[in-house]
Amino acid sequence: MTSQDNELNKIRKLCDQAGMKLTPQRLEIFKEMLSQKDHPSAEFIFKKLRKRLPTISLDTVYRTLATFDELGIIKRLNVSNDRTLFDTNLEQHHHFICTRCKRVQDIYWPDFDNANLPESVSALGSIQVRHLELHGICNKCLNKENKNKV
Ligand SMILES: [Zn+2]
Ligand SMILES: [Zn+2]
Repeated sequence: MTSQDNELNKIRKLCDQAGMKLTPQRLEIFKEMLSQKDHPSAEFIFKKLRKRLPTISLDTVYRTLATFDELGIIKRLNVSNDRTLFDTNLEQHHHFICTRCKRVQDIYWPDFDNANLPESVSALGSIQVRHLELHGICNKCLNKENKNKV
C-alpha cells in the first residue's frame, strides 16, 4: 500500500467518525493538499482544482479545509497576518518564513520542544502547543540576490 492510500484510508475513517460525508469533491481537495509539499492557501488549491473540477468554488474549498482542520486531518496555519495556509505535516514542527518570497518551510527543533520552559512562561499558564515562527530570507532568495550583484 502506498503512503497516499494510507492517508486516504485515514481520512475516510476520520470523516466517518465525525459523521462527515466524504464527497468526491472533498476527496479531490484532500488529494490536492497531499500533493503539495509546501503550505498551500485555499486560493492556491482552488486554482489547481478548477482546471479539472470547473464547478468547484473557493468557498467550498475554504470550508472543506477548515473542516479538515477541525477534524485534525490537516492544520490551519496563520502566518504573517494576512494569509491563512494549510499544513499536511502533523508532526511537531516549526516554520521558517521567507520575508521576500513568502515561502514557508518546515523546521524541526526537538531541543526546543523538550526544553524546560522559563518560569516567566509557566507563570502565565499551561502551554499546550509550541510553535515557532522564524522570519528571514531563504537560500533561494539569497542566491538570486548574489547573482544580481555580479
Ligand atoms: Zn525566499
Ligand atoms: Zn509545516
